Amino acid sequence: MKTVIQTVLLTSLLLAFSANANIQLQPGVSGAWIAGASGQGIFVNIARVNDQPNFVVTWYGYLNGEQMWLVGSQPFDYGIETLTIPMQITSGAGWDTNFVESDVIRTDWGTVTIDFTDCNIGTMQYSSNDSNYGTGSVQLTRLTFTDGLSCHEDTGAQDSVAKQSLAFMREEEKLARDVYLKFNRDYGQNIFSSIASSEQQHMDSVLNLMNIYNVPDSSTGVEGTFNNSDLQALYDALIDMGSTSLSDAYLAAALVEETDIVDLMAFEDDETMPADILATYDKLLCGSRNHLRSFVPAYEQLTGTTYQVQISEIATVVAEILSSANEQCGR
Ligand code: MN
Ligand code: MN
Repeated sequence: MKTVIQTVLLTSLLLAFSANANIQLQPGVSGAWIAGASGQGIFVNIARVNDQPNFVVTWYGYLNGEQMWLVGSQPFDYGIETLTIPMQITSGAGWDTNFVESDVIRTDWGTVTIDFTDCNIGTMQYSSNDSNYGTGSVQLTRLTFTDGLSCHEDTGAQDSVAKQSLAFMREEEKLARDVYLKFNRDYGQNIFSSIASSEQQHMDSVLNLMNIYNVPDSSTGVEGTFNNSDLQALYDALIDMGSTSLSDAYLAAALVEETDIVDLMAFEDDETMPADILATYDKLLCGSRNHLRSFVPAYEQLTGTTYQVQISEIATVVAEILSSANEQCGR
């Protein structure tokens, strides 16, 4: 249990501190780029292969006075800012009518790692396993855009922390809803069904922001299944934890709320978070505080024992919540 929780905490913190100065990889980086100085360069094409974006790059360079083409491609997911692509060099075949497909020799060359500071400047680090090429770093300068394709600098790193947090919170609110729906069926307590519908509202609020920020809905739409593997593991652990008795279900529910509070607080600490997202996270946090104020007394009445905080990192916060009154959470 502890490890699952720690993993989820770590996920949020990694997201919160991953900001740097690059734009996201996107179709708009497609085009021709000068590598170092005019006369050599790379052609980038963000292709779609097997329903996934593929970064296709060809490097037009020289070795000892001869032309040298390197080719490579690498599948990736949108949302990242840097990518390492394995490159190959081809040889062995003849020109036009002398070309025989089976003559082509593909030799692994090494890798290039590419990122873009903005839509016109990038960096390509290379590492070849052939000592004739060695390792190094080349500045990329935009030469051409693909006609009709724009490049967005506002979808960069800071925006991406916010966007990733939305995709994460959408599924974390779903986790809360799904856990309570299951416990409601298992134990038939109104507290679970009424808080499940509150979590549905939280999911809707996050989806609203995802539509505004053009973030695809990452949640599955199926109760108990999650695209985020950490949240899937957490859901499975919570259902397991609450399956033994109603008092354990209350404990699992309180743990859901504590986890929510930790993750939301981490996202709110990120100074790049836009104001409208912050306002919604405030509302979600307020909801979690109230939910904790419902589950804990239910647990204490049922068992006659005092609730112990489950995520020790927020012991002070939880104590403050439990000693204060229910709040109006707005909208
Ligand atoms: Mn919630
Ligand atoms: Mn909640």
